[in-house]
Amino acid sequence: MTSLDRPLLYIGGEWVPPSTSKTIPVDNPATEETIAQVPAGSAEDVDRAVTAAQAAFDGWAGRSMAERGEVLDRLHTALAARAGDIAKTVGLELGTPLKVAKAVQAGLPLTVLRGYADLAVRPVPDETIGNSLIVHEPVGVVGAITPWNYPLHQVVAKVAAALAAGCPVVLKPSELTPLVAYLLFDAAEEAGVPAGVLNLVTGTGAEVGAAIAGHPGVDMVSFTGSTATGRAITHAAADRIARVALELGGKSANVILEDADVVKAVKVGVGNAFLNSGQTCTAWTRMLVHRSHYDEAVELAAKTAAGYTVGDPFDEGTRLGPLVSKGQQDRVRGFIERATARLVAGGLDAPVPGKGYFVAPTVFADVDPAGELAQEEIFGPVLSIIPFDDDDHAVAIANNSRYGLAGGVWGSDARALAVARRMRTGAVDVNGGAFNPFAPFGGYKQSGVGRELGEYGLAEFQQTKAIQR
Ligand code: NAD
Repeated sequence: MTSLDRPLLYIGGEWVPPSTSKTIPVDNPATEETIAQVPAGSAEDVDRAVTAAQAAFDGWAGRSMAERGEVLDRLHTALAARAGDIAKTVGLELGTPLKVAKAVQAGLPLTVLRGYADLAVRPVPDETIGNSLIVHEPVGVVGAITPWNYPLHQVVAKVAAALAAGCPVVLKPSELTPLVAYLLFDAAEEAGVPAGVLNLVTGTGAEVGAAIAGHPGVDMVSFTGSTATGRAITHAAADRIARVALELGGKSANVILEDADVVKAVKVGVGNAFLNSGQTCTAWTRMLVHRSHYDEAVELAAKTAAGYTVGDPFDEGTRLGPLVSKGQQDRVRGFIERATARLVAGGLDAPVPGKGYFVAPTVFADVDPAGELAQEEIFGPVLSIIPFDDDDHAVAIANNSRYGLAGGVWGSDARALAVARRMRTGAVDVNGGAFNPFAPFGGYKQSGVGRELGEYGLAEFQQTKAIQR
């Protein structure tokens, strides 16, 4: 036993033992040591949790949105008191450098939760269309399945919106980073979230995830993770026509036009691509540069990447931590090994700490836009640079992807905006426009179905009813 062990599940407002004694080890990717064990839950545990959520539905859905907002407000207070622990926990189980962990892994979910608490207490007036009154109602019991790269944010983006809408939730966090989810449930208990409204079943995707996706009592599955798993979940939910919301992978383009501030565009672009060691679904992993700036951009990107300090997430100076697991490290190293493009920074021979799942920040130039490096989501610190001739050519390369999650454009405002409008992707930042945690977030094409965050995220968890008078 270590002090980080969490042996119980949270079902029906209580900490309860799982149905089996099997556990899952949680590793620290910077040291390769096991730091805790959590339950390997089962389909039986999922069934108990869904039953508890169903029992809670009428009471929770029957409260006004403003009353639910008050509960979210208390949850925010209890979670905010744990901000330091959240950053530390994500630093330990994922390896995010502490500075980023504080700002993004702890700060962002708190902002999102605050936003939903505020949204809920502001009553939305009923809409009238002719003789119809239009009302919005909770969709039902929600199964939430989340990945490891922003392990609290991805949970809160679903849980806060679902709870505001009136839906009880059964959550399965990633088995690689389950510890931070426990902090949310500690906060929920302290905040007095009613029994059965929020339930936690930890375990593997094959067992617990599949049981949630296929459970007849789950009215909606909200999933963030890989496109392959999103496909499996959609198949499982299709049998009962359950609603599915999917936030999947990405291979986003950062387009640097002829009239761009190249130095800023490259520096911000490299930072974006390598955030969280490149384990970011929105990462701008393809840098598209107008030929007139190409050599300068390649040189600057290589220099910027080489300047990143790789190492212990808890060292103040560290910019890049490890990848989450040995499996992820092997996968990323495989892409680098197979690459035929021109390596200008990093690579497999670049120095990294001997222990831990590190990969050096790596930049390839002259990347084939149709080849593996430019098409596959690598999910590690690997940036591909591609030249283009004019704006039409840039748009064609940017859109030559089965994904469409995010992107960036740099250039004079009107020209950059025109290119942004033509990109087949759910979000585009023009000249470094900041991430907006209240704007709709989601993908085109194989990057997903539906939108999270803000009012659009709330609507995902609602049914719309027309009452004629
Ligand atoms: P993953 O798909 O392997 O796992 C995600 C979750 O699904 C985990 O909790 C896992 O246990 C569960 N799961 C696995 N198999 C399952 C099954 N058959 N049925 C039900 N659940 C199952 O993804 P990952 O490796 O944890 O995360 C990385 C991926 O997530 C990347 O592709 C990344 O782009 C994507 N992602 C997308 C977004 C977004 O918002 N679009 C955000 C973060 C990550």
